[in-house]
Amino acid sequence: MYPWGNTRRFNSWSDTARRIYGSRVQKLTVNAGFSCPNRDGTLGFGGCTFCNNEGFNPSYCDPSKSIEQQIDQGLRFIRKRYSRASMFVAYLQAYSNTHASREYLEQVYRDALSHPDISGLVIGTRPDCIDPGKLDLIADLASRYFIRLEYGVESCYDRTLKRINRGHSVADSERAIMMTAERGIKCGIHLIMGLPGESRQQMLDQVDVVNKLPIDTIKFHQLQIVKGTAMEGEYEQNPENFDLFGLKDYISFIAEFAERLRPDIAVDRFAGEIPPRLIAGKRWGNVRYDRVLAMIEKRLEEMDTWQGRLCK
Ligand code: SF4
Repeated sequence: MYPWGNTRRFNSWSDTARRIYGSRVQKLTVNAGFSCPNRDGTLGFGGCTFCNNEGFNPSYCDPSKSIEQQIDQGLRFIRKRYSRASMFVAYLQAYSNTHASREYLEQVYRDALSHPDISGLVIGTRPDCIDPGKLDLIADLASRYFIRLEYGVESCYDRTLKRINRGHSVADSERAIMMTAERGIKCGIHLIMGLPGESRQQMLDQVDVVNKLPIDTIKFHQLQIVKGTAMEGEYEQNPENFDLFGLKDYISFIAEFAERLRPDIAVDRFAGEIPPRLIAGKRWGNVRYDRVLAMIEKRLEEMDTWQGRLCK
């Protein structure tokens, strides 16, 4: 038995959720029509070089529909697929979902939370799109609902963030996470593995930065070159600048990362899943996440290791 209360070799967020809430916490994606400062001119217009938010959202996520309509349609779809899920949270995923005035955010969040089948929110955003006033609002909601803020940290190296035109720094991420944790709000981060300019060792070394952050969950993505992005152009011109993970390669890498990761950080995902038709660079084929996860767990077993075994 591991510290997270079961015999799996990593601290799985879905297992933790079942233990705490008695059910799978099923995310239901909602597009509330936010933009992002890296696209609307607040910081710039080009966006992060890897980003193409189009095409990632389920078809029912259309900002021209009300939040209530999106939730109703999403529930119909999800209930067919996950018949045993009984706890649903609205997932504000597209763009930066704290990039508006506090008053507007309150209206959007309350709209979603007023749906009778919605128990909470997962709010995806950038670390530079948050301030004490917005966090106080979220903390107030968090005292009554399940609320998690998820920050796109992406890399723990400023030179990488600059190279991918992210428009914020590692210090911005650290600051946002600290302010979030200070208010007792659940906090998750996203990291991308395989960004250009980072060696495998440098990617692995990021675990020391992550382990110092007061976060609850983590989501990993392997870098995938998405069609229509600035990075696609960069990749076509200079493929030698990219060291994209193959599937087997990634499984071994992420298992090594996991054995260094703090054991109380629950892993929400070890890898991203983008429809293959949208990927321009190296593809893993039609491998679904369930299979990737099974391979990672098998790798941890082969290595006779587990999350946190080498955590300093
Ligand atoms: S990844 Fe996020 S922050 Fe970057 S351009 Fe896309 S929506 Fe904006």
